[in-house]
Amino acid sequence: MKMATLEGSRKTIDDALIKAFKNSIQCEVLSEGESDYDEARVIYNGMFNIKPALIVRTITVDDVVKTVNFARDNNILLAVKGGGHSVAGKCLSEGGITIDLRPMNDVQVDPEARTARVGGGTLLGEMDKATQEYGLAAPGGIVSDTGVAGLTLGAGFGWLRGKYGFSIDNLLSVDIVTADGQFRHASVSENEDLFWAVRGGSGNFGVVTTFEFRLHPVGPELMFCGPMYPAENAKSIIAQWRDFVTQAPDEFSSLLIMMTVPEFDIFPEEIQGKDAIMLAGVHCGTVEEGGRFIKPLREMGELLFDLSGPKKYTEIQSMFDSPLPQGSMICYFTSLYLETFNDEAVDTLIKSFDERPAKLIPFLVEDLRGASMRVPADKTAFGDRSAPYRVELNSAWLDPKESDSNIVWTRENMDKFKSFSSGRTYLNHSGLNEEGEELVKRAYGVNYERLRQIKKKYDPGNLFRLNQNISPA
Ligand SMILES: Cc1cc2nc3c(=O)[nH]c(=O)nc-3n(C[C@H](O)[C@H](O)[C@H](O)COP(=O)(O)OP(=O)(O)OC[C@H]3O[C@@H](n4cnc5c(N)ncnc54)[C@H](O)[C@@H]3O)c2cc1C
Repeated sequence: MKMATLEGSRKTIDDALIKAFKNSIQCEVLSEGESDYDEARVIYNGMFNIKPALIVRTITVDDVVKTVNFARDNNILLAVKGGGHSVAGKCLSEGGITIDLRPMNDVQVDPEARTARVGGGTLLGEMDKATQEYGLAAPGGIVSDTGVAGLTLGAGFGWLRGKYGFSIDNLLSVDIVTADGQFRHASVSENEDLFWAVRGGSGNFGVVTTFEFRLHPVGPELMFCGPMYPAENAKSIIAQWRDFVTQAPDEFSSLLIMMTVPEFDIFPEEIQGKDAIMLAGVHCGTVEEGGRFIKPLREMGELLFDLSGPKKYTEIQSMFDSPLPQGSMICYFTSLYLETFNDEAVDTLIKSFDERPAKLIPFLVEDLRGASMRVPADKTAFGDRSAPYRVELNSAWLDPKESDSNIVWTRENMDKFKSFSSGRTYLNHSGLNEEGEELVKRAYGVNYERLRQIKKKYDPGNLFRLNQNISPA
């Protein structure tokens, strides 16, 4: 079989060698032409048609160890897939091996200790369902079919960040298979350098088979804030939101959503297709406190619709899921941290929103104040947390012929925010990683050199390179 090498060339791997590898592991291995192969390579972003030579659907740590060893010993390009939400398509390897961890989605909750052990292929919705059985939750993201793995390794921004920080701030340990095939435990007291590095360092350091999280009492019902205003009044509504949320308690995490109202059942038919601003947020205190706090946000002008109200945490966590199947939209998502969201930045956002050609996905502005912002830059690999806002310009469309122009439009419009930003971006949300090392270097800032040293220690040959890659020192 011809397979892609780490350097990008092709080489022939002896059939007997592949057969011996397959016989040595317990799990399914798929290649082109076999049933389930095409289904296994579907990812969120429909831009890609990547065909790995082998998709190894690991079910045990031993499967992962043997696959890492096989790829390394034979110099084969290796990708690691959790939930498949990499917008840059880095979770599949063209012509190489893809470790697909989806079958490893076991979640074990210890309600006494308030911890959960979560398999490396678990989706957020699966983790939330298991932890909510005990009235507990770990901070995650806002879309339930995102993978816990890729999200956490990048940081993990969600509705609990104001009170409890990012996902990485609640990570207690990981079990990880490193490039040498060793299975290691990393925490604040064991392999500390590795534990520091995985908290923001993306998939650079190995295959995480288990994440251990600290859990918090959450819900079961929380107050969701969802007033929607017509986009014609965007300037006044956005300025009021910006000024109001600076006073918010940690319990309230807020997200400005600018969208063309989709044809989702939760929205009345008469507003579907209209441009709207939603002042979304979640208050994780009592429903009564939350209701009192969000009242002014619901009275900032004439409403188009209002989704506010007490809702189950698990319902909130899937409110923004796409009703379309994975892979049906073509996407380009990009983001920047903003030092300021002054009136000029607001005008820039509104102009881009009005002119955007691809309208299937909203633009977002996150107010980042709260617990996540108070963590020092060197505490985790993720780096600087001082920016109070993060803006996301997201474009999604259906026709591949529109791809080039939509990508160019999105990049050019994101660049217009550079004067309000230090230029750092959230690596989990950074286009197709076109800028390569420069982008990664800027994102990690003062932590970059330390990350390169740790990469050299655990992955000197850069086996784990299909990610926001940190080159070994
Ligand atoms: C619709 C959508 C909504 C999103 N919402 C949020 C949000 O609310 N908050 C937020 O912070 N981010 C969000 N993101 C960004 C998201 O965090 C990243 O896309 C993340 O990489 C997805 O993780 P995944 O496991 O699904 O992705 P995958 O594509 O499976 O993996 C992405 C990368 O992570 C690495 N990786 C995956 N699994 C493992 C593992 N077990 N061990 C080691 N490395 C691994 C690999 O390098 C891989 O290339 C969203 C993305 C999308 C598309």
